[in-house]
Amino acid sequence: MKEALYYEYTEGRVHCHLCPHHCKIKEGQVGRCQVRKVVDNKLYSINYRKISAIHVDPIEKKPIIGWKPGSKILSIGSFGCNLYCPFCQNYHISMEKPFTYQMTSDEIVYKTLDLGLPSIAYTYNEPTIFYEMMIETAKLANEKGIKNVMVTNGFIEEEPLLNLLNYLDALNIDLKTYSDDIYKRLGGTTVNQILRTIQIASTKCHVEISLLIVPGVSDDVVEMEKLFEKLYKINKNFILHISRYYPMYKYHERPTDLEIMRAIQKKALKYFEKVNLGNVR
Ligand code: SF4
Repeated sequence: MKEALYYEYTEGRVHCHLCPHHCKIKEGQVGRCQVRKVVDNKLYSINYRKISAIHVDPIEKKPIIGWKPGSKILSIGSFGCNLYCPFCQNYHISMEKPFTYQMTSDEIVYKTLDLGLPSIAYTYNEPTIFYEMMIETAKLANEKGIKNVMVTNGFIEEEPLLNLLNYLDALNIDLKTYSDDIYKRLGGTTVNQILRTIQIASTKCHVEISLLIVPGVSDDVVEMEKLFEKLYKINKNFILHISRYYPMYKYHERPTDLEIMRAIQKKALKYFEKVNLGNVR
């Protein structure tokens, strides 16, 4: 375990400031993400240096298509998440405790160099909640001339985000829905919380946006257009990745109707030049 960043001890509890949940955690307990634990009045990251998956992927698989196209990227993930989407596509590492093995930041960076890869992606589960491992690796990678990419749900507080952005080069940020009520049901807070992350990140790095179109969550065409308007006001050059949902984990609705997918893509194209339709078999 590694002592966590962004916490304080007050009134008999640890108060974590890494993400907008702001958990107040008692001795021996963990935060909502299940991976930050209080021991002797200190907060520790329990997934530090614990890797659940490591692969070489095409950058387009992140998905990122407007930055270093055609390149390969070393992709690493750990376990845990600070949201609770019942349709999570990676639930076996975000909601469950997978098999992991130890890997230091040095080992990750030197593996990237050995493989001749230009960049590392922090991905698979939510990287915000393996922040300590990510920023340590990203700093070292940065020193060695390797680029850093974060694939995230955007549910992170401003101070840790700004610190991290000093070492990141590109992000894919996943927007789950247009509705605050639905965001709350998914374990988040508000749409604006994620739009704020998108706005801050896009002033410093290359940012692309992912939207998984899930029935009952993000498949209202009119509401999606309102969301596109908001994104357009932040940056009219965003690349959008609109993906089709398939039943997964605890969500058993039928796959998203293809006509709805195309209608949403059409609305997106009113605002953005590049709108990628994904997962359409
Ligand atoms: S990172 Fe984890 S412990 Fe910290 S506020 Fe978020 S959910 Fe709570």
